[in-house]
Amino acid sequence: MRMLICDCVASSISAISFAMSAMASPTRAQIGPPDLIADLVTANHILYDQGVVDGFGHVSVRNPANPGRFFLSRARAPSMVEAADIMEFDLDGKPTGGPMNKPVFQELYIHAEVFRARPDVNGVVHSHSPAVVPFGVVKTPFRPVSQTGAFLCAGVPNFDLRDDFPDAPNLLVTSGPKGAALAKKLGDRPVALMRGHGDTVAGASLKEAVYLAIFTEVAARLTTQAIALAQGGPVIYMGDHEGERGQPGSRSKGASEGIDRNWEIWAAEAVERRARR
Ligand SMILES: [Zn+2]
Repeated sequence: MRMLICDCVASSISAISFAMSAMASPTRAQIGPPDLIADLVTANHILYDQGVVDGFGHVSVRNPANPGRFFLSRARAPSMVEAADIMEFDLDGKPTGGPMNKPVFQELYIHAEVFRARPDVNGVVHSHSPAVVPFGVVKTPFRPVSQTGAFLCAGVPNFDLRDDFPDAPNLLVTSGPKGAALAKKLGDRPVALMRGHGDTVAGASLKEAVYLAIFTEVAARLTTQAIALAQGGPVIYMGDHEGERGQPGSRSKGASEGIDRNWEIWAAEAVERRARR
């Protein structure tokens, strides 16, 4: 029986370090299109450098040659991920390629079930984005106050695992049914809060998913600051339809230039700061 690593509980890491699959196939150095795998490695480094993930959190990309499979690192801190760490999984969460003798993320079902439910999605980020988490535990709605958060105008549902799994021993999405419940709550929107946990972000591409994850964190900071500055007074949020102008994450496309522009600087900064660590 394959053992899974808990990516949210540090104490479990040592316990699963010996997890090996009896059914494992030989380890391969790298899988998938080299450019896409390189982007996935960069995405891991960017998300760490921008403060969206820490030792926890993960990012995936759908296999363009097989929509029923996706690429995701083995269980490893995002800042440490290298091309040889990338694995391939099917939509049941079963490993189908990469370093098969390594522990995997316990919450990989988030990715599998979002990819299954959303054919339009090709990149998924799950994180414990620190400024976002509080919005999952208060009645104050998570609404954007700035243009860079326009994609949140689509609405941000709040997934509470205990609604469907009242006896769950923790808040982790550790099975296909739990992942499917999260994907259902996400619906056709780009971001879902996860009560007491973090958020999950779905993009039309890997780069869009990274963009949305970073600007979700930025939006949470700005909205929090606006509410505090208002001192109980009104806050002027973006209107419901102000996110439908070709913004990343909106249903109308045409925003890839903005995504590419940000990706370029984020990648350069991540490389520079990583070299200094
Ligand atoms: Zn998590």
